[in-house]
Amino acid sequence: MKTAGVVGAGIGGIAAAIRLAVKGYRVEVFEGNSYPGGKLSSFEINGYRFDAGPSLFTMPQLVDDLFRLAGKNPTDYFQYQKLPETCRYFYEDGTRFTADAEPALLAKTIEKYLGEPAEQVLAHLRDSAVKYEVTEKLFLHRSLHKVGTYFNRDALKGYLNLGKLDAFRSMNQANSSRFTDPRAVQLFNRYATYNGSDPYQTPATMNIIPHLEYNIGAFFPKGGMVAITNSLVKLAEDLGVTFHYTSPVEKLLIDGKRISGVQVKGEALSYDIVISNMDVVNTFRKLLPDARQPERILRQPKSSSALIFYWGVKKQFPELGLHNIFFSKDYATEFHHIFQQKTIHHDPTVYINITAKYEPNDAPAGGENWFVMVNAPANDGQDWGTLIAETRQNILTKISRQLGENIETLIEAEDVLDPRLIESRTSSSQGALYGNSSNNRFAAFLRHANFSRQFNNLYFVGGSVHPGGGVPLCLLSAKIATEMVK
Ligand code: FAD
Repeated sequence: MKTAGVVGAGIGGIAAAIRLAVKGYRVEVFEGNSYPGGKLSSFEINGYRFDAGPSLFTMPQLVDDLFRLAGKNPTDYFQYQKLPETCRYFYEDGTRFTADAEPALLAKTIEKYLGEPAEQVLAHLRDSAVKYEVTEKLFLHRSLHKVGTYFNRDALKGYLNLGKLDAFRSMNQANSSRFTDPRAVQLFNRYATYNGSDPYQTPATMNIIPHLEYNIGAFFPKGGMVAITNSLVKLAEDLGVTFHYTSPVEKLLIDGKRISGVQVKGEALSYDIVISNMDVVNTFRKLLPDARQPERILRQPKSSSALIFYWGVKKQFPELGLHNIFFSKDYATEFHHIFQQKTIHHDPTVYINITAKYEPNDAPAGGENWFVMVNAPANDGQDWGTLIAETRQNILTKISRQLGENIETLIEAEDVLDPRLIESRTSSSQGALYGNSSNNRFAAFLRHANFSRQFNNLYFVGGSVHPGGGVPLCLLSAKIATEMVK
């Protein structure tokens, strides 16, 4: 039986382990933490349960695919529901509305509250769908680093439609030319943050993202986001995969043009193939310091990170939903602070996720579990202590004003996650949420491939490599990498 060693039990590593087990490999996964999931994990304080990282679930079929691939019925392991609304929006001028998940209703709502013709919104979503169609087969399901990707019918179709990707202007330029109301521009510019980009720099190609949320849909897993991790770990174990927790891999062992295995707790363990789910920068810097370092790729600027306050709030707010956004007044200045000044603006856009809206047991009776996040720069050694204290106060002032309630007095449990902690807990370079930034039109080509050119049995999965960060793309990275394994 062939053997595989997987470094890291993030969602990419778990998905790769499942796919290899289905191929007949004996798979062992080594995880530095005492729990699986990396960013996609969960914790509890004083009766309040929190998903630690991701909160928006799109493309659930990619999770289902893994159960089906293994010959199992997905709903025996994992259940989810489609959300009837995507987000509740709050603007500084007092405008507030709920974005319906149904495109036609969303368009009507935007027309009613922002004065933007419904047809413009629908045209935007149609364009988003076209962009997705052009990129899906070419970029998302295949390696960009194999010649075969560029010579097939899908690729040819893609080339003929490359103009539709709108790669030569920024997302903000495209959205400002489509919409007249700055609040509508802000709403659609926000999708750049779904892969940690700056809407004022990232190409308009990223207008592909609303397609996922509106045309395909946003979902909520029963049991919260961590149910994705837990159900896939269960599937992997049912397939015979072994997970070793609190077992950081210290080194990848080089044997000429092969990786002969991994070193864990000083012990050398041999495998036929090795898959790294550790951030690719740290895989090279820490596990392969003697190998040639692909500097151009490793030195690319990083995506944004995040500052998160987990608040157990002893009151319920019917005006809030599962996903809520309190926009900043000046989006351009906010992003200038994150990407140029590498700090957090005093008026940040605040995202609040409350899973207790769907899972009442996630909070004690009468309370709500608030996951309160602002976009933050990747860790460059900023004075985080000061930034966290100032931002906490700014958030409290902003949302207390908007909700007409002194929020600070309602917080009875609290924890904080900052870019340094994201870095130390998941080994993500600079605590970036999505690996390299996608702020230029060549970004897709400057992510590391899902295989190694130096070592013929080493593969890479997860948010720092092709096709990118976010749960769906990490799942696709596992598909691409393991399909290359002979
Ligand atoms: P990671 O989660 O990065 O985990 C890597 C794992 O490898 C970790 O468990 C780590 O301990 C382990 N590891 C690293 N090095 C070693 C080693 N040497 N030995 C052993 N183990 C090692 N995505 C969405 O789709 N929707 C969202 O709403 C969303 N919001 C987010 C919000 C936040 C705050 C964060 C942090 C992320 C968010 N993301 C979101 C992004 C998403 O969480 C990630 O893209 C995805 O979970 C990354 O998975 P990964 O496979 O790269 O592994």
